[in-house]
Amino acid sequence: FIQFDKVSKSFGPITVVDDLDLSIGKGEFVSMLGPSGSGKTTLLMMLAGFEKPTSGEISVDAKRVDGLPPYKRNMGVVFQNYALFPHMTVAENVAFPLKMRGVSRSQIVERVKKALDMVQLGAFQGRKPIQLSGGQQQRVALARALVFEPEVVLMDEPLGALDKKLREQMQLDIRDIHRRLGLTIVFVTHDQTEALTMSDRIAIFNHGKIEQIGTPGQIYDSPRTQFVAEFIGETN
Ligand code: ATP
Repeated sequence: FIQFDKVSKSFGPITVVDDLDLSIGKGEFVSMLGPSGSGKTTLLMMLAGFEKPTSGEISVDAKRVDGLPPYKRNMGVVFQNYALFPHMTVAENVAFPLKMRGVSRSQIVERVKKALDMVQLGAFQGRKPIQLSGGQQQRVALARALVFEPEVVLMDEPLGALDKKLREQMQLDIRDIHRRLGLTIVFVTHDQTEALTMSDRIAIFNHGKIEQIGTPGQIYDSPRTQFVAEFIGETN
C-alpha cells in the first residue's frame, strides 16, 4: 500500500536515508525504532511531503506521491513538535485542515465534532491550547490529524512529552482508533516497549538503512544481525 523504492536522502555530503526499500500494507501499524540520527524522522518527512527524496520513488495505493505537496497526500500528521496554533481555539485548530481543503462550513462543524468526540474532547472545543494539559493537547493534535479522514496517519514521538500514565492511556486510545478506522499508521518512537505492544511490525533503523523488519516476536526472538540484537538488548 505504501511503497518506498530505492529512496535516498542526502543533506549536502551526508546521506541520512540510504537506498531504502520498504512496503507497508493497508491497515498496518508499523513502528520505526533505531538510534538517534538513523533517519527515522527523515523517512516520515519524505512520506508526509515535507522533504523531497534525493533519489528513488514513494507511492501510496500504487500512485506516486513524491512531488505532491503535503496537503494533497491525504495523510494525517502528529509530530511531537508540530504544535497547535496557540491563538486558535480547539475547534478552530481541528477545523484548519478542512478549511485548507475548501470543505463547506456545515460539513466542518459536523466533522470537527465527530473528531473531538473520538478523542473525548467534545466539551473542550472553545478552549485555547494553553488552557489544556499536555495530554489533552496531544489529543487535539490527533483529532486534527484524523478530521479529514485520511487513510494514513504518520506519528513521530507523539507521546514523548507525556508522563507514564497518560502515555499508556494514549497508547490504548491510538490502538483503538487504528483498529476502528482501519488506518495505516507509521509510528516513530524511542520507546521499545511502546513499539512492542502497539505494532504489527517493527523496522529497526541503522545509518539510513533498515537492518530488520518483522513482527515484534520475530525481532525480539530472532534478531537477524548483531546490531539488532544489541540495540534491542539495550534498556531505554
Ligand atoms: P532521532 O531519533 O534523534 O529523532 P532520527 O532517526 O529520526 O533521529 P533524523 O531526524 O531523520 O534521525 O536525522 C538523520 C540525520 O539527518 C541527522 O544526523 C540530522 O542531523 C540530519 N538532518 C535531518 N534534517 C536535516 C536538515 N534539514 N538539514 C541537514 N541535516 C539534517
